[in-house]
Amino acid sequence: MATPDSLAALLPLLSFSCGYCVVDSLFANGTLPVAGSVDHDISHCPSIPLSERPVLQQLGRGIRHRWRSGACYICHLPRATHGPRPMHCQFRSDHPHTNLIPPALWAIRFINGHIYRSAMHAMSVAVRGHSWDTPDAMADWIGDDCATEEGNSAAALVRFLQTKFHFMH
Ligand SMILES: [Zn+2]
Ligand SMILES: [Zn+2]
Repeated sequence: MATPDSLAALLPLLSFSCGYCVVDSLFANGTLPVAGSVDHDISHCPSIPLSERPVLQQLGRGIRHRWRSGACYICHLPRATHGPRPMHCQFRSDHPHTNLIPPALWAIRFINGHIYRSAMHAMSVAVRGHSWDTPDAMADWIGDDCATEEGNSAAALVRFLQTKFHFMH
């Protein structure tokens, strides 16, 4: 199980980072992207294939429509990771992980079959009655607090990446 402390140590490494570029860099180089170099949203991402952008945007809409989690609606992480700041504050700087989770899940699903299978296995996705086969299925997984042992799918995803790639400063 994640503790807020251990997540709190990992999350600053991923602040203002595009999740797709993070997974792409971990897979290709074994390291995180240079700090600040991948601060963009889906429509400005140089790594996401153009043909996949509309479907990835569909994932974003699916998450908003299907949201039933107690976590942050904007960045999908547990309340504890926001510290004393208000959860639904509209300022982007209050949610430095806005562009992290949906693109990271997309990259895990589609960049490489081995990463996809090991993530499915590590987080017991099928065992817990979920799949990542469509944008709506992915949205259901991200918004379901019972989808992972962690009690929050975004946190489980960050922890999976750390366990798989051992990224650090
Ligand atoms: Zn990117
Ligand atoms: Zn947030």
